[in-house]
Amino acid sequence: MVRQRKDLLKIIILGDSNVGKTSLMNRYHSGKYTGQYKATIGADFLSKEITHPEDPSRQVSLQIWDTAGQERFQSLGVAFYRGADACLLVYDVTDATSFEKLSNWKTEFLKHVDNSQGDFPFVVMGNKADKLTQTVSRGTPLERVLDWCSENMNADLGMQNFGQQSYNPSSVGSMNMSLQSHQQSRRAPIPHFDTSAATNQGVEEAFETVTKLALERNRLLMRHMFIAPPPRMVNLQDSSQNYGGQGGGEQCC
Ligand code: GDP
Ligand code: MG
Repeated sequence: MVRQRKDLLKIIILGDSNVGKTSLMNRYHSGKYTGQYKATIGADFLSKEITHPEDPSRQVSLQIWDTAGQERFQSLGVAFYRGADACLLVYDVTDATSFEKLSNWKTEFLKHVDNSQGDFPFVVMGNKADKLTQTVSRGTPLERVLDWCSENMNADLGMQNFGQQSYNPSSVGSMNMSLQSHQQSRRAPIPHFDTSAATNQGVEEAFETVTKLALERNRLLMRHMFIAPPPRMVNLQDSSQNYGGQGGGEQCC
């Protein structure tokens, strides 16, 4: 029997109240939309098992975290953010204010997660796209939204840091290759999807994209952990080097 490896990802849905976060989560999780979801669903997250997007022999377990209504008070607990792997930023395409607030949500989010490599993945969902008709237009023009996504692009993974820490010559080539390709992909704008929890438009695509970005980030972080810094050479004969003592080589101990 082939043993399946499993990845666990914590995906967070953020955005103003009433933009459709809970509806999107339920739509993706159970394929349903009732149009009657209350602000609180009584659970912090829903889990969904999916096949790994690039390896059918593996499973990925998604934990999708919803705000359960607390976003009204802007007081989401530490546990909500802890261990997040990626973030879906949701606004209502007919509501300009909800789009303007995305910068706040993003900034607030980054205060709580480890973004030391500057690589935290985001995906933007412009929800309620089904409401757009000839008479109902976008609250914010799509061009402006896409500009914001470009200005806020998912940053690279700190090529310099990785480079300095790579000392195993056989690993450096492949490491740099993967980082370069990673950098290029991460230098793309934040992906944007018009979505509708009501009609299912764009929902699968947005979740699949955020899953791929989170898996890619985790893969690179795992590699990063296994690359040790270069050993520091100490020449005991050389009295000109100061290793921390106060007056040169004689006081090194
Ligand atoms: P949340 O506060 O962000 O979690 O938003 P909810 O999921 O509770 O949805 C708020 C309201 O918007 C509800 O009345 C939903 O039925 C409605 N809604 C959510 N998604 C959509 C959508 O895609 N299209 C339309 N037309 N209404 C939606
Ligand atoms: Mg909700």
